[in-house]
Amino acid sequence: MENIKNLIVGCGFSGATLAYKIATELNEPVTIIDAKNHIGGNCYDYTDETGVCVHQYGTHIFHTNLKDVWDFVSQFTKWNPYMHEVRGYIDGQEVPIPFNLNSIHQVFPKSIADKLEEKLISRFGFNVKVPILELRKVGDEDLTFLADYIYEKVFLHYTLKQWGMKPEELDPAVTGRVPVYISRDNRYFQDTYQGIPLNGYTPVIEKMLAHPLITVRLNTDFNQIKETVSYERLFYTGPIDEFFNYELGELPYRSLKFDFVTFNKPYFQSGSVINYPNNYTFTRIGEYKYFLDDKTDKTVVSFEYPQAFELGKNERYYPIVKDENQTLYNRYLEEANSLSNVYFLGRLGDYKYYDMDKAIARALALFEEIKGR
Ligand code: FAD
Ligand code: UDP
Repeated sequence: MENIKNLIVGCGFSGATLAYKIATELNEPVTIIDAKNHIGGNCYDYTDETGVCVHQYGTHIFHTNLKDVWDFVSQFTKWNPYMHEVRGYIDGQEVPIPFNLNSIHQVFPKSIADKLEEKLISRFGFNVKVPILELRKVGDEDLTFLADYIYEKVFLHYTLKQWGMKPEELDPAVTGRVPVYISRDNRYFQDTYQGIPLNGYTPVIEKMLAHPLITVRLNTDFNQIKETVSYERLFYTGPIDEFFNYELGELPYRSLKFDFVTFNKPYFQSGSVINYPNNYTFTRIGEYKYFLDDKTDKTVVSFEYPQAFELGKNERYYPIVKDENQTLYNRYLEEANSLSNVYFLGRLGDYKYYDMDKAIARALALFEEIKGR
């Protein structure tokens, strides 16, 4: 039986953040494993033969209001000060998403757009974000017309593709991530800190793990080694239901299929991400060279097809945020809390729809919690 002081399962941002903190601040050895053949988890990227830095698991943009998280990651990289913009393909036009005042003026005749703009501002104020499910509740006839339009053209069919459910069947926070924005700001995020690591995400994680007290083992599934190792502490960023052998039932997840295509031309589309709420079976197309402004003759894009998650067939990409799933997760959490030396974190361990910054913040907070123990 091999005795490991700190065993971390998963080399994504969650696991790597914790490994770095334990090694550098507690001066304790850490073994970090991943079932995959690379570090970085879903943030893994690489430069392919065309010279484009490709995100293997879909477009990743770093954005946060958390200064401590930004400062933490900035120790490992300089940034390309990239501001993300998304457009949705609606009735033959590329329209800013989040749907904002510019979008309104693009899709409606001026007289109608002016009236809707005035009504929105007098009702909610300027520079205000309103979740679509809230906008639909407003009693005003014109605003209801607008809300129904946006619901139908932006949210309904995209959400049906992405989740196999209507917006109102999910926690409102899911569609609330992309609110209607009463503003002329076309950016997808308004966070204070935004960017793409200048050399990509993988080198960031590589630097976090480049410490003499950290041992990285790839191609190593916890399930295959758990009978042969003992540990003083275990930090688990894999799926919490899998850890407990699904004894309370499987937690639902959503998966994706990425179709990567290289085109023999410098650019394929007008920006890094174009959403297709209504047409096609994919939800969006990502074009990677925009993130670091790669100067290449060819371009690499991915078409993103949502799928049901099926154990053994594909990957878990999203927890499905709704009450009944949270209830099941809470029951697993109770079991987890009864274990004295096992800690769960990460998008899969916490069953939370974390962006990168929230996953890192959670790992930093967990470190503060355990460091005295
Ligand atoms: P993960 O990156 O999933 O890492 C978990 C690791 O654990 C994996 O490498 C897995 O192989 C390993 N593992 C699991 N089980 C085992 C086991 N039994 N044994 C060994 N290893 C195991 N966030 C943003 O901030 N901006 C974005 O633009 C953005 N875009 C996204 C786009 C997509 C399509 C997806 C799916 C996510 C996106 N995210 C984005 C979210 C981001 O990917 C996550 O916040 C981040 O990856 C979470 O890191 P993590 O370490 O918790 O999990
Ligand atoms: N959404 C939508 N249409 C869009 C963009 C987003 O309906 O054009 C909804 C959809 O339900 C999606 C959710 O808002 O899953 C969150 O979108 P986000 O872009 O944050 O998803 P992620 O990048 O995490 O896949």
